[in-house]
Amino acid sequence: MVSGIDGRAIAVHRARNAEASALRYTIHPQDQFRITMEIEERGEEIAAIYHSHTKSPAEPSQTDVNLAENWPDPVYLICSVADPDAPEVRAFSIRQGRVDEVELRLE
Ligand SMILES: [Zn+2]
Repeated sequence: MVSGIDGRAIAVHRARNAEASALRYTIHPQDQFRITMEIEERGEEIAAIYHSHTKSPAEPSQTDVNLAENWPDPVYLICSVADPDAPEVRAFSIRQGRVDEVELRLE
């Protein structure tokens, strides 16, 4: 998870994948709780949730769209390592089943 203020990323908070799978992810509930508290203490908000696609492009899968249904506010960052020589990161807003690419700016 990435915390920040007003859409600006400040810190990365690593979480375990409760699915223990390379194909699906669920943020481990203990990690999610701990990180949510940490972020609140820092006075920041959950700016983004990131995960990787090991074999597919950096685009939200139907599973990603379904998962985002309960959590519409963060930006979803997807890193594809399908081509290990050319990893790709893209950002999306996923709200009520609607996927929009979001501009990702590195400063
Ligand atoms: Zn995905």
